[in-house]
Amino acid sequence: MDPMWDVVIVGAGPAGSAAALRAAQLRPRARVLLLDRADFPRDKPCGDGIAAHGRDELALLGVPALIDDYRPTPRLTVVSPGGVRVSAEAARPNHVVPRRVFDARLVAAARDRGVEVRRHRVRDLVPDGSGVVIDGRLRARTVVAADGAGSVVRRLIGLAPAAEEHTAIAVRGYADVPEEDDVQLIAMQKAGWPAYAWSFPIGDGTANIGFGMLLPRLRAVGAPGRQVLHGRLAELLPGLHPRELRAHHLPLSTGRPAPGAGRVLLAGDAAGLINPLTGEGIYYALLSGRLAAEAAVESPDDPLALYRSKVRRALGRHLRTTDVLARLAQSPGFIDAAIETAAHRKEVFDLLVEVGLGAGTVPAPLALAVGMRWLRGSLRAGRSATRVTP
Ligand SMILES: Cc1cc2nc3c(=O)[nH]c(=O)nc-3n(C[C@H](O)[C@H](O)[C@H](O)COP(=O)(O)OP(=O)(O)OC[C@H]3O[C@@H](n4cnc5c(N)ncnc54)[C@H](O)[C@@H]3O)c2cc1C
Repeated sequence: MDPMWDVVIVGAGPAGSAAALRAAQLRPRARVLLLDRADFPRDKPCGDGIAAHGRDELALLGVPALIDDYRPTPRLTVVSPGGVRVSAEAARPNHVVPRRVFDARLVAAARDRGVEVRRHRVRDLVPDGSGVVIDGRLRARTVVAADGAGSVVRRLIGLAPAAEEHTAIAVRGYADVPEEDDVQLIAMQKAGWPAYAWSFPIGDGTANIGFGMLLPRLRAVGAPGRQVLHGRLAELLPGLHPRELRAHHLPLSTGRPAPGAGRVLLAGDAAGLINPLTGEGIYYALLSGRLAAEAAVESPDDPLALYRSKVRRALGRHLRTTDVLARLAQSPGFIDAAIETAAHRKEVFDLLVEVGLGAGTVPAPLALAVGMRWLRGSLRAGRSATRVTP
């Protein structure tokens, strides 16, 4: 068995690499081990969209220029389920960086900082006095479980996997687009709502395109999943011919579990931290990975209590907000009203971006404005339905 590691991180996606980078940044002499079942570079099905908030995290992790060679995509167009369109420049630009590149760069940065990186698939984990034993041969004072949507570690510590009603599924591929295309497009669909397609141009003549919906809604269609996902993508973004189509689950934060158990802290998708309104998860993965490492380093005897309070401070109000909004958003009329409000008021557009891609919350006047518009829309729909009733 190796000598005791201060932190062992399972999974080297954004959450795991962020944890590794932060631990080594705070305690350069700490023994930090980053494990992944894959060698890097490796692909991960994703929209590849990195919000400005994710770049803030990269700066905090000491790698501010990690994606500077990728073109910013400042414009965002959203088409609501009822066809309302809003197109505006985001207050801060997003980036689109293929995960094959982004994740490998993060892992390389962690290695450069002194983190040991090993290819290893974790299968077993047992608490052992003042530490945790992994696969019978690695001992860690703290384990950060960043092993993604199907987290094995989450199951090993006795927490249930994400429930289907809180899980989405999405397929993504790459398609040719004009090189000058620099608009991130989100096209929502009423059928099987909540559901939407996206096109996120990378800046090299290709775009990441995809389609996602809630898992129970997909099952309700009754056709093979692949057929539904690929068919809807083609329907919403006609004329594009995606390559490398791959699908993956998205554990939404409405079904988030406890943030860990004992000396094991869950981060990123393993912690079910994907935004239920947008499917964005990279920012929350970077943030939670960073906080997990801080807790491991600052409170090695009881990392979980500190981690819990750090997550609560950073995301508590935001998560409660998106819990409520996700319930309201079950009605496509609510989303139509929110997007219509954003189409008329740029400050509302910016606030919605903060809620959908960052740690934003909804101020009461905005909630009221959207609520009133929603009510008017429902009354209008009710009146026209009454008129056509024989
Ligand atoms: C189709 C799709 C589109 C998306 N689009 C976006 C988007 O545009 N923007 C955005 O912000 N988010 C998007 N998301 C969400 C985003 O991909 C995830 O939130 C993000 O990858 C979470 O990072 P993570 O580090 O927690 O997990 P992952 O990136 O999944 O990394 C987990 C790592 O753990 C490793 N691993 C797993 N099991 C083990 C094991 N037993 N032992 C060792 N290693 C293991 C895996 O190999 C992997 O490298 C999308 C998701 C999907 C499915």
